[in-house]
Amino acid sequence: MAAEREGVVIIHPPSKMLERERMVPPLGPLQLAADLESDGYEKVRVIDVGGDKLDLEPLMEAQAILLSATTPQYLEAREICRAVLQERGKKGLEYPTLAVGGAHATYMGSLLLKDGWDYVCVGEGDLVVTPLVEGRVASGLVLGGQVGDLNTLPMPAYHRIDISQYRRSQEHKPTIPIMTSKGCPHDCSFCSNEVWGRRVRFYKPDYVVGLIKKITQLGVEQVVFYDDDALINPGERLQRICKGIEPLDVTWRCNTHVNTIVNPRAQNLGVLEMVRDAGCRHISLGIDGVDDESLSYLRKGTTVARCKEAVRLVKEAGSYVKVFLIYIPRRGDIYAQKMIDFVKDTDPDFVQVSVLIPMPGSDMYSHPGEYGLNFRKSEVDRFYYCGPKGVSGDIGMLDEEDHHAIDYLYRWLSDWRESKPEMPI
Ligand code: SF4
Repeated sequence: MAAEREGVVIIHPPSKMLERERMVPPLGPLQLAADLESDGYEKVRVIDVGGDKLDLEPLMEAQAILLSATTPQYLEAREICRAVLQERGKKGLEYPTLAVGGAHATYMGSLLLKDGWDYVCVGEGDLVVTPLVEGRVASGLVLGGQVGDLNTLPMPAYHRIDISQYRRSQEHKPTIPIMTSKGCPHDCSFCSNEVWGRRVRFYKPDYVVGLIKKITQLGVEQVVFYDDDALINPGERLQRICKGIEPLDVTWRCNTHVNTIVNPRAQNLGVLEMVRDAGCRHISLGIDGVDDESLSYLRKGTTVARCKEAVRLVKEAGSYVKVFLIYIPRRGDIYAQKMIDFVKDTDPDFVQVSVLIPMPGSDMYSHPGEYGLNFRKSEVDRFYYCGPKGVSGDIGMLDEEDHHAIDYLYRWLSDWRESKPEMPI
């Protein structure tokens, strides 16, 4: 067993983007916990802060405190960093080592070192987490890179967290997230896929089926595929996964791209019917734009006709369909009405609307002028929009007309949602 001070604590900060905390266990921290376990660490604690107050005192004996944060989680992560640094200062300790990784650290890199972290990890943390905890790498920026063969990774340490505290809704049973691939080949102007890159790496069917078997052994019957596009490779690999999980009697949902669904090859292979028969009850589509001009602005690489066709095909196959849409600043009520018309026209089962956030690392963030945008880049982690929480953080991107349009849109959506049955997963 590796030498340990008092173990390693991995913290998942709350996210402002979520309507509700603790819907599913945090996959990134559970993967890091598994990486450490496989290197001989037994004292690994995963804390999903959610709405709880974090009690730092018992954590100060740890060898290292690791945080994984997306952009909407970063301000909370920084608060935790400051609190630990303060405690360290008061007690005259050099430990616990403080490290941050995840999407925001990957976009921002060494800029985050000013917040006091001992380490900022860029890219995937799997290969560097143990050397970092053991102080075998120089402090500062750590380049995690990408894992070449995902199948060499241990399965996420789901046993490190109390699964029963997670519910996607009050009525639903616990649901566990998995990934069957990493990476996204698309190039949306507002998105940065720097952590996993544009090359898609796949877990083998045996790994995926084995992982889902392990999940069912925990008594969990619902799984969320977190892949950016879980159906992107609709051939033999997906067929083997579906065949392997069909007898396990799990219910699952996944994300996919419009073009994947309308692709004639996928249709010929009967992909939607195949995944439905293997337990897929819900497919989410990142449609984002509602006319050809906005789809081009967002660089979605598709057309509104294809978007409508994709929604129709999922419904026809008998799965629930959720669509993500993005309100684009400075488009006002006219665009909000177009979004409403799109929803009326396609009649999906669920709609989630966000306000455009140019993610650090995206083309839109790097060249806002080319997109007619003007905002304070350094404050982008303060800005979010999600359902009832509304818009927060004025970064200079929205004007009065935008706020009016967003309010109008959200009020309409609230009424519309009332008329819809709840999604099963
Ligand atoms: S928004 Fe989705 S489809 Fe577009 S690049 Fe990002 S992950 Fe890929």
